[in-house]
Amino acid sequence: MAEEKVKDEAMQIMGMFQILPRLVVFDLDYTLWPFYCECRSKREMPSMYPQAKGILSALKEKGIEMAIASRSPTSDIANTFLDKLNIKPMFVAKEIYSSWSHKTEHFQKIHTRTGVPFTAMLFFDDEDRNIKSVKHKLLLERTLHSVD
Ligand SMILES: [Mg+2]
Repeated sequence: MAEEKVKDEAMQIMGMFQILPRLVVFDLDYTLWPFYCECRSKREMPSMYPQAKGILSALKEKGIEMAIASRSPTSDIANTFLDKLNIKPMFVAKEIYSSWSHKTEHFQKIHTRTGVPFTAMLFFDDEDRNIKSVKHKLLLERTLHSVD
């Protein structure tokens, strides 16, 4: 019930914009769910933030693709949780591994897999350093394109 309400609200908000992203990229830990999955066991039943499922459903209905960019060192636990939550098929790309490059490597791979340009992506992450490094990468990409 609450999920439907969030979904309707998200659909309404998206309806107010003429330009929407083609792909929305989500972090996992403390973005989709309120914990670090490396500190949990695969046997547990995870739960997401209360609004997460409704937002994912709205994006899906709107035809906006979704992907995951996570630096979790335990991709097996993350994947098990995505399975248990029945949301795994919603994502066109799942990049889950620790990396020193923050998430620029993750984004490069998402771009290669989907063909979606960085300028048509929207990124949600609770950590500033990830957003900053990806933003820097996007700006660099734009600059390179304008030089071409
Ligand atoms: Mg996080």
